[in-house]
Amino acid sequence: MDDSVRLLVNYFDATDWPMPICPSCKKGRLIARPANITMQEHGNSASAGWHDPIGITGVFHGRLECTSSSCRDWVAVGGDFAVDPADDPHSATSWVQILRLRTAYPAIDILTPPSATPHAVAAELSRAASVVWFEPRLAVTALRISLERLMDEQGMPVSGPDGRNLSLHRRLEIFKQTHPVEGALLLAVKYVGNEGTHSASTAISAEDVLDMAEFIEVALEALYGEDNSAIHARATRIIAAKKLVD
Ligand SMILES: [Zn+2]
Repeated sequence: MDDSVRLLVNYFDATDWPMPICPSCKKGRLIARPANITMQEHGNSASAGWHDPIGITGVFHGRLECTSSSCRDWVAVGGDFAVDPADDPHSATSWVQILRLRTAYPAIDILTPPSATPHAVAAELSRAASVVWFEPRLAVTALRISLERLMDEQGMPVSGPDGRNLSLHRRLEIFKQTHPVEGALLLAVKYVGNEGTHSASTAISAEDVLDMAEFIEVALEALYGEDNSAIHARATRIIAAKKLVD
């Protein structure tokens, strides 16, 4: 997972934007030029000039630009704006403008699935990325649906011997019999997904969504990532020979 995405979970300094990977080219980084971000205090902004700025809240909007010269795509962004006391005693002002992302379009990727990941699974992961900052509970529901699609792709049965539909939990249990490590990760995501989907009282944060997305990413890497079997086989041969062998 791109560490910059994790920095978007909380408020950050408006002069120190995280630089996530560009969703268009997947190579460049997204940067926020100061001229491209507009911050606006809620209510009567005319008062901003004379009162203590600490405690101001509002919204921001703007655009991020890809650093890749062959891409240069934009992502439109918006979210919360606030003014906090500055932590840094050497700061030129006693306050700092802070921002929290709530929308990004096109969506900033929250995980990097291997290229061989089935489209139906990747599509649900994209859906989670498109709502994670604004409504984390919807994002976790999309992650849960991605598990259903993954079980489809892995050939897990949809119905039992009695013809009744199998629950996602049951399908994951069957999958776990042959893939204990990945199955455990996915089962954990399912529990969190259930809470987000069915329990109105459970608080799901964007950070929780990223944690669960990371579980899925690790499982997808094992299922659809580059084949490392030759490396593992050679390590086994070296251990058996107790010396360097081909
Ligand atoms: Zn780009």
